[in-house]
Amino acid sequence: LHNTLEDLRGSIRVFCRMRPLSQREKDLKNTDVSQLVDSMTVELQRPAVGSFPNEPDQFNFDAVFKPGTQAEVFDTCKDLVQSAIDGYNVAMFAYGQTGAGKTYTMYGGKGDGEGTAPRTIAELYRLLKQEEDRVQFTIMASMMELYRNELVDLLTQKGGPKRKSQTPGSATVEQKLNVRTDQNGAVQIEHLSEEECKTAQALSDLLERGNQMRTVCATKMNSESSRSHLILTIRVVGVNKQTGQKLSGKILLCDLAGSERLKKSDVSGEAQKEAIEINKSLTALGDVMEALVKGSAHVPYKNHKLTQVMSDALGGTSKTLMFVNCSPASSNFEETLMTLKFATRAKNI
Ligand code: ADP
Ligand code: MG
Repeated sequence: LHNTLEDLRGSIRVFCRMRPLSQREKDLKNTDVSQLVDSMTVELQRPAVGSFPNEPDQFNFDAVFKPGTQAEVFDTCKDLVQSAIDGYNVAMFAYGQTGAGKTYTMYGGKGDGEGTAPRTIAELYRLLKQEEDRVQFTIMASMMELYRNELVDLLTQKGGPKRKSQTPGSATVEQKLNVRTDQNGAVQIEHLSEEECKTAQALSDLLERGNQMRTVCATKMNSESSRSHLILTIRVVGVNKQTGQKLSGKILLCDLAGSERLKKSDVSGEAQKEAIEINKSLTALGDVMEALVKGSAHVPYKNHKLTQVMSDALGGTSKTLMFVNCSPASSNFEETLMTLKFATRAKNI
């Protein structure tokens, strides 16, 4: 029954989340330019020019949170965890400019502040426990980031772009994490390490380790972690103890790099290369989402490593949730408008 309901709802959901104004924005006399029209519609008010007010733009989603609690947000998507146990591939990812609330939504803080990933972990092991008499489950997890079109294993630090300090031909370069897709469309990443997590605690610890490694890598590469895509993959394999029937699903949790456009002042080499690559990857993701909602015969997964890595959790029988994270501040109006427009490409109208 669960998956019948799910199919009726469609396999791509787009949630918009508008974070509150920050104290700093309030201090700077920013106003909130967003308005919740109803639980599925948000309005964006273009700042008035002189005495000419503008008509607000309206955007529709499967749900709008302004801002919603972490528990509320998770309640609307936790059925996806069951889907993974049932053998589906699931992708949940957060799109938006830096500072819009992606990491808050995907990871969050402690206690009530916990975001999607820790709640997914808790829900997963809770559900597995319910079925443990019937099914033998194995949970495997990996964590990587995609930085400047190179994958980095965040559990072992393999891969990644060649650094200046690195001698050519060193181990890191040889262990490039290449992406391949097998005949069944399943994504395989060479050299990516995977660890079995027998408990929720083990998986939380892994996530913690990966996040720390991400910061270390960013510092080494003279960047910021918001300039890379973070991808946590949880594979769920279940074998029925009586029939031997095997089901395998997976959950991809992705905290995308900031979608903001390059500032004109920021035209220097490295920052520019980063920005160009991020832009390419997010454009590719938008193209894939658009092709999927339109039901196009050709889905351009191959256009970027990001979409290649995500390909078996986007489209087909898989289930996708895109969080569109926005800032409500007047100073961010242009970026928020861009974000909402990007998101509407992934919505069937
Ligand atoms: P991003 O990852 O998109 O760069 P963050 O998740 O780091 O943005 O959010 C920026 C700031 O806004 C953080 O201090 C975060 O705690 C806060 N924030 C984001 N979303 C919310 C929300 N829904 N409610 C309260 N605070 C939020
Ligand atoms: Mg972040």
